[in-house]
Amino acid sequence: MEIDFNKNADGLVPAIIQDASTQKVLMLGYMNEEAFLKTNRTKQVTFYSRTKQRLWTKGEESGNFLELVDIKLDCDNDTLLIQVNPKGPVCHKGTDTCWAEENTTSFGFISELEGIIESRHKLSQTEPELRKENESSYVVSLFDKGINKIAQKVGEEAVETVIEAKDQNDELFLNESADLLFHYLILLKAKGFKLEDVVGILKNRH
Ligand code: AMP
Ligand code: ZN
Ligand code: ZN
Ligand code: ZN
Repeated sequence: MEIDFNKNADGLVPAIIQDASTQKVLMLGYMNEEAFLKTNRTKQVTFYSRTKQRLWTKGEESGNFLELVDIKLDCDNDTLLIQVNPKGPVCHKGTDTCWAEENTTSFGFISELEGIIESRHKLSQTEPELRKENESSYVVSLFDKGINKIAQKVGEEAVETVIEAKDQNDELFLNESADLLFHYLILLKAKGFKLEDVVGILKNRH
């Protein structure tokens, strides 16, 4: 790995620290060549601290070490992407990331959809009389009907998906698949779970 330590006069390159599993950016640090070599040798991420003006192994006081998984060099050899397994909260302020985010997996648009379903679920927890006129929604009405009805909907969409799978109409198959996934996310929420819980089980089996 040919890292350009001389691009900056101080001999430091930025190192973006990313969780190897969730892909969340956890923090940013700087490395000189010595820090890079020590990181590779010990498999625990070590920076050059500009504040302390010495090598700094993340976790040396807190015990929240960053266990090295992989190091990637960017297109012009002046920035590191370091994938890690964090042994605890990464920020010294106690949060998972230095941007005060939770270090949980994001499923992109599916997570956005889960957020919308969650807000509809909250709405279904308030008495119907207290809800505003414009707050009527299909998802709220499903939550109102209860788990058995939602589970039944999942079953229906699954059957429709099976029927379309046997046919040659791709558009119908994909639309029924979307219905199935959407209602399955609603069922998970009604049962108090998130997609992450299911993915966690798949990961453990792997
Ligand atoms: P630690 O390396 O976790 O034992 O923390 C030792 C010290 O390093 C802390 O008291 C902070 O001053 C500093 N520190 C720890 N984590 C971070 C971080 N994510 N970003 C900047 N400084 C940090
Ligand atoms: Zn670059
Ligand atoms: Zn921080
Ligand atoms: Zn359908």
